[in-house]
Amino acid sequence: MAEKGLLVVISAPSGGGKGTIMKELFAQDDNLRLSVSATTRDPRPGEVDGTHYYFISREEFEALINQGKMLEHAEYVGNYYGTPRGPVEDWLVEGHDVLLEIEVQGGAQVKKLMPECVSIFVLPPSMKVLEERLRGRGTEGETTLQERLSTARQEILHVKDYDYIVFNDRLEDAVSDILAILRAEKLKYSRNTDSAERVLNNAETV
Ligand code: 5GP
Repeated sequence: MAEKGLLVVISAPSGGGKGTIMKELFAQDDNLRLSVSATTRDPRPGEVDGTHYYFISREEFEALINQGKMLEHAEYVGNYYGTPRGPVEDWLVEGHDVLLEIEVQGGAQVKKLMPECVSIFVLPPSMKVLEERLRGRGTEGETTLQERLSTARQEILHVKDYDYIVFNDRLEDAVSDILAILRAEKLKYSRNTDSAERVLNNAETV
């Protein structure tokens, strides 16, 4: 039977450049699976239903919550966001590492529900850079942009609740830091308690 995979929570303020990090992570680690969230916000240009998000109505979202089909959910800048439970549980059992790219309220819920998860906070180099990146994306009006910036400030205060911090200054460094965290986590004694016994029994250890 496959070893159970790692559940990895990554949070970063919106506009922190995490989309690019994710793309590169998946290019380098083919055992990793990305949970596709559901949201009630409108798609941005280029976003595809079922790939970037499941874009659903508030009524549909609330029905999923009531049916217990959301692993976690949160309201963020006026919209619901949540992680569908099924695919995450299936992938973990199959031995895949599963990445949840979610905000801090959801991160706290997952940590409570599955304390064995690994949580990583990706910090932007500065608030100034974060604002520049958000403006550069040009997908929000000024009011939403200001709201996102003030939410980002609040979110950064939660960095202390995470296991690891990754600085998103240079893309290659951020990606290799995250891969290093995953590798180290898999080598933790708590995840390999029977390995000495396997060595003594001449069983395959890897
Ligand atoms: P955006 O609207 O920029 O795509 O996402 C806004 C915020 O929602 C980001 O911080 C993103 O990480 C977070 N988010 C995306 N999907 C989920 C989810 O399933 N659950 C929670 N709690 N947050 C999510």
